[in-house]
Amino acid sequence: MTDQAFERALKRLDDAAEHVDVPEETLQRLHFPRAVLSVAIPVRMDDGKLRVFHGYRVQHSNLLGPCKGGLRYHPEVDLDECKALAFWMTCKCAIMELPFGGGKGGVAVDPKQLSMLEIERLSRGFIRQMGNFIGPETDIPAPDVYTNERIMGWMMDEYAHSSGRREPGVITGKPVALGGSVGRTEATGRGGFVCLERLAKARDWKAEERSIAIQGFGNAAQAFARLAAEAGYKIVAVSDSGGGIYRQDGFDVDELIDLKNQGGKIESLYCDGSVCDGANGAARKIDNQQLLALEVDVLVPAALSDVIDGDNADDVKAAVIIELANGPLSDEADQALEKRDITVVPDILANAGGVTVSYYEWVQNRTGDYWPIETVQERLEQRMARQFDRVCVIADEHDISMRRAAYVLALERLGAAAEAMGTDRLFNGA
Ligand code: NAD
Repeated sequence: MTDQAFERALKRLDDAAEHVDVPEETLQRLHFPRAVLSVAIPVRMDDGKLRVFHGYRVQHSNLLGPCKGGLRYHPEVDLDECKALAFWMTCKCAIMELPFGGGKGGVAVDPKQLSMLEIERLSRGFIRQMGNFIGPETDIPAPDVYTNERIMGWMMDEYAHSSGRREPGVITGKPVALGGSVGRTEATGRGGFVCLERLAKARDWKAEERSIAIQGFGNAAQAFARLAAEAGYKIVAVSDSGGGIYRQDGFDVDELIDLKNQGGKIESLYCDGSVCDGANGAARKIDNQQLLALEVDVLVPAALSDVIDGDNADDVKAAVIIELANGPLSDEADQALEKRDITVVPDILANAGGVTVSYYEWVQNRTGDYWPIETVQERLEQRMARQFDRVCVIADEHDISMRRAAYVLALERLGAAAEAMGTDRLFNGA
């Protein structure tokens, strides 16, 4: 198996190292995941047969604290992808100044083919196989693609059975009734919205005059869209895996969320629902490629990785891209957009609201002091705004993109931790 995704991810870090005085050893450490676990999970299926699934957990770095990162259920999960995603988590936690390193894991499975009971057995089996590899002070999983708070609840419960102790801090993104934090579900979207507001302030934008197109309309996208619409922005396009819809005057986002969550595809909402002939003018169907090429002020990829690459980067007309998805731009796209002065708020900053509130959940679990929603939101917003501004200052100082600046900020923190433990400079006076 090759490590293409991981190697590509590391390249962005190496590029950033040109702009920061960081001990060479820091890079050396970050080029290797600290530990990797690969497990086989036998699951009794509803028809009585046994199936064995492959699961992985990668701990990329614990330089800044216990490893932190999601578990995904997807047919394409493999070790290389987990390593790349775990590395991004290391950087994300460093940028947000969280006391965490990076981790990621998952199971190669199509959860849509499994019954709810089979998913429960798989989830509990995965936790049993991970044994002592995870723990509230070593490695703390969370939800990711096609895993959710219910699955996190089962996992926490299974961990309690195995360890003989109830430790809610072993996993975040749990249901609130089982020790989850209020405000976690919308945290990624809210964090992305803070980025939008900071940009708007710097550019003197009036929300009512600005349009936004969003690719994907799941958890992260819906929370972002709701907050942006409440602030006055026009959400002119949204999509899902089946296609998208566009309306120049903008959509009623609450209506769209209700319709989408009743189980429909975005495209069929246009055909069957009230969206297509609502009071604000007609909508039209578009496909996902057309959405990326719309004349909008802000484009928000919030679904998959590598959706903008060397082939379609030149079609992008937005002035700003906010990456709610992980890795939606390829390196080629990044370079092409940078040449055209399109501002990209990078994933490791733009979607860091989720892990930030996961951190708050972990703190609440460990202290037993549960915060009201206002406290969670206020702390998230303040932290996002502060770290966003830091990235902007670094970008200005070095005349580099926000992405490169975000990696510089991550490297500064990771380098300081490596330095504090003693490096070549200390031992050899180098
Ligand atoms: P989700 O499963 O709730 O939503 C994903 C959405 O993308 C769905 O609406 C789905 O229909 C759509 N989609 C799937 N394939 C598509 C395609 N080919 N074209 C257009 N849309 C497509 O997932 P989510 O939790 O909202 O996560 C979305 C992205 O955000 C992922 O990249 C994830 O890694 C990233 N992210 C999420 C969080 C979080 O807290 N939810 C945190 C950090 C990063």
